[in-house]
Amino acid sequence: VPEPTSVTAPAPAPASAPLPVLGLDVRAPLATGGELPYAALDYAASAPVLRSVWEDVAAYAPYYGSVHRGAGYLSQHSTAVFERSRATVARFLGCRSTDQVVFTRSTTDSLNLLASALPEGTRVFVFETEHHASLLPWQAAGARTVLLDAPRSAGQAVGTLERALAAAPEGPKLVCVTGASNVTGEIWPVRRLAAAAHRYGARIVLDAAQLVPHRPVHIGELDVDWVAFSGHKLYAPFGAGVLAGRSDWLDAAEPYLAGGGASRKVARDADGGVEVEWQNGPARHEAGSPNVIGAYSIASACEALTGAGFPELAAREGELTTKLLAGLSELPGVKVLSLFGVDDESAPSDARAEAERRVGVVSFVIEGWSSAHVAAALSAEYGIGVRDGLFCAHPLVRALLGARSEDPGECGAPEGRSLNAVRVSIGAGTPEEHVERFVRAVRELVRDGA
Ligand code: PLP
Repeated sequence: VPEPTSVTAPAPAPASAPLPVLGLDVRAPLATGGELPYAALDYAASAPVLRSVWEDVAAYAPYYGSVHRGAGYLSQHSTAVFERSRATVARFLGCRSTDQVVFTRSTTDSLNLLASALPEGTRVFVFETEHHASLLPWQAAGARTVLLDAPRSAGQAVGTLERALAAAPEGPKLVCVTGASNVTGEIWPVRRLAAAAHRYGARIVLDAAQLVPHRPVHIGELDVDWVAFSGHKLYAPFGAGVLAGRSDWLDAAEPYLAGGGASRKVARDADGGVEVEWQNGPARHEAGSPNVIGAYSIASACEALTGAGFPELAAREGELTTKLLAGLSELPGVKVLSLFGVDDESAPSDARAEAERRVGVVSFVIEGWSSAHVAAALSAEYGIGVRDGLFCAHPLVRALLGARSEDPGECGAPEGRSLNAVRVSIGAGTPEEHVERFVRAVRELVRDGA
């Protein structure tokens, strides 16, 4: 990715206040209106913004102009900010020199963009355990989706993929896998799955929405072909995402969005129609006026996380996740949901080992309880925000709860049988007190009854 020409930036924002966690300062949570400050334990849905990101955006926002068009200062400045953001994200992801970084609206948008760029006849291999953003775009774009059974160990995931690829007919193949599950938090064996895909001539895209806030995601080291993620899970505000990776399929495809910026030359053709020469590179799929503030906020978050250090972040989150799992495991009738480890003799046996194979995302059910009721009680009585439901991963949650696909959802579930789960998730801004309050709250709910 070329370095943009530099343009003098406006004066930097004042240095931020003392930084509480590894140099990362997450903006103060909302008050609940009651006595407790709000404990946001729903980072897997959207993480709160980092103060440094907020300040960067506030410092830039008054100076935006249209990118790649104007000769004026604001336009040049915005172009520099946009392209510098692209270069920062490329560095953050360890992109190869031939890769490109396309700014999109979200992970969902990134995967739909890639789906729209698949060569004719591509088969896409996905585990049924994927988030719907990774499961659904392929068939919707006209590709053939090959659904793989839910694996019960990392080794089984690799074996299942290999068998499916070996049995597939000739033709282009893509594998789409998650880096970390948005339901169980479990980290997937991405490097091994990538090696398996490449052994059988397939390409692989990593849905890094849940992995990228917690672990380094390096395209070259993981040897994946593309990575997709969203800014709003990476401590940057809503509205922007990234698709990074190989250029050839993207440059050969019709533009995802047709319009200004995506075209190099437009003229009237001999039949009175329109003749277009499309751009190559990211501009081909970024028609219209792009979300420069979103791109800048992602780049700012990438720099802040790199500065804090992923080993340190992972160690701290691991401590909190251990505490969370240990607290839940003591409670009668509470079942933490895990996909891996069930058929695995080396399955982890204690809370620390369980935490090590996860990012800070834990889902659970309480026997005989409605998950919606648990989540509502946590919010109303303890000021704790969690999520309940099927988490846009219906087949996975059903597999974890041992439900059949024809079973009704929670509203129609038989008495005492919940087909939904509660998800608690943490991140860089989570104080220990939030985890302690959560464990205490679940203990009290179990003890006192719903
Ligand atoms: N993939 C995973 C694993 C997710 O957890 C999510 C969001 O929850 C997505 C994809 C979709 O992200 P977005 O809604 O930002 O497009």
